[in-house]
Amino acid sequence: MNDSLEIRHLYKTFGQTEVLKDIDVSINEGSFTCILGPSGSGKTTLLMILAGLEEASDGEIFYHGENLTDLPLEKRRVGIVFQHYALFPNLTVRENILFGVKNNLTAKEKDEKLARLLDLTHLAGLENRYPAELSGGQQQRVAIARALAINPRFLLLDEPLSALDPANRSRIGRELREIQKKAGVTCVMVTHDRTEALALSDYLIILNNGRIEQAGAPAEIYDRPKSAFVATFAGGMN
Ligand code: ADP
Repeated sequence: MNDSLEIRHLYKTFGQTEVLKDIDVSINEGSFTCILGPSGSGKTTLLMILAGLEEASDGEIFYHGENLTDLPLEKRRVGIVFQHYALFPNLTVRENILFGVKNNLTAKEKDEKLARLLDLTHLAGLENRYPAELSGGQQQRVAIARALAINPRFLLLDEPLSALDPANRSRIGRELREIQKKAGVTCVMVTHDRTEALALSDYLIILNNGRIEQAGAPAEIYDRPKSAFVATFAGGMN
């Protein structure tokens, strides 16, 4: 019953091309899962299907036993953080964070929610700034706060660190983990960076050519790769 997110026999075909083949995996509640694979392996497509932005050709997605497969985006209630933050440049931090929050909350409830999220993401005092007045790391934290504001079932992150300069990446990766642990939210993050994936995840899914090559704890994958591909791509052999 610890499995919160279950992906069952998922397939995706674009025209003649099968880009996801029998993806079947369970993700624990509260875990930080990385989907790692080379360019073109199907990572983004899988994330888009989990988000409800793309339809699977076959297979199902369950969250605590509830079938999400056919739920449209607005009913799926998942948080999404994209590579390039996609903040609204003409809205303040406050307005960005509260953008997707339902109007049935009172002004007081919205203020309380905002204060909680600003505290969680270390953005207190910056709520009246515009995105252009923030650093890359701060903008990314606004994007995370905005994704969390809808009380998502889980959070999906597509290469959230890749637009940041290399010097800040590992620090901001650690901040992201800290926020995730405090919020207790299940995260699924796509990356093509093995160092990032091994350092951040507590569960790792290795994709190659649309199939799962191996899934497990990062240390297990590093130490005991099941295939030559995993050994060279994510294991200790490179
Ligand atoms: P990754 O995120 O691992 O780089 P993608 O999920 O973006 O991989 O792409 C996987 C494969 O699916 C690629 O071969 C890509 O060309 C193909 N693909 C992705 N989106 C589409 C689409 N909308 N139409 C046709 N082919 C697509």
